[in-house]
Amino acid sequence: MKRIRQRRSEPKMPPAWVLCCVDSRYIQPTQQFVKQQLGARRYFLKTDAGGSRALLHGHPAVRAWVLRNLRLVYQQRGVRRVILFHHQDCLAYGGSAAFGNQSRETRVHTQELKKAAQLLQTTLRDVTVQTFYASREQRRIRFRPCNVQQVAGVSAAHTRRTGRSTRRTQNVGRNETAGQRLGQTVGF
Ligand SMILES: [Zn+2]
Repeated sequence: MKRIRQRRSEPKMPPAWVLCCVDSRYIQPTQQFVKQQLGARRYFLKTDAGGSRALLHGHPAVRAWVLRNLRLVYQQRGVRRVILFHHQDCLAYGGSAAFGNQSRETRVHTQELKKAAQLLQTTLRDVTVQTFYASREQRRIRFRPCNVQQVAGVSAAHTRRTGRSTRRTQNVGRNETAGQRLGQTVGF
C-alpha cells in the first residue's frame, strides 16, 4: 500500500514535443530513440519536411503554423522539452547530393538545428531544446546530439529492416563535459 502511495505521489513528467522530418525511413527509429534513449515516454510528434527547416526558411504562415503546434501543447499540456531531429539525405535540403560530401552535409544540418533551437528558446524561454542529427551507417541509424550544452553523449543505432534496436547509451562522467565526450565520439 505504501508503495502505491509513493508511486502516486511521484511527479508526472511533462510530455515532450518532437519535431522531425516526414521521411518514413526515420520516423519509427526516431520515436524509438525518443522513448528508449531519451526517456520521453509521453510526447507529441510533429512531422514536417526537413524537420525544422520550415521554422527557419518557410513561408511566414507555415512558420507560424509550426509554432502554433508547439504553443498549443506548451500552454495546454505543459510541454517544456523540445526535441528536434534532422537526418542525412533529406530531400527537403536536396538530399545528400546537394552537399558534395558527408561532412559538409552534417555541418549544415547541425547549424540548422542550432539556429532552430535558438529560435525556439527565444520564442518560449523556459523550454529545453535538444537537437539530434540522424545518419545511416550501413543498416543502422545513428543519432548524434548537436547541442553539447544540454545533451550528455547519447547515441543509438537501429536496424533498418526489423526495427530491432542495438542501443548504446554513454553516460558522461561528472568530471567530463558533454563537449569533451562528444569530441571523442563524434568525428565529423
Ligand atoms: Zn527529410
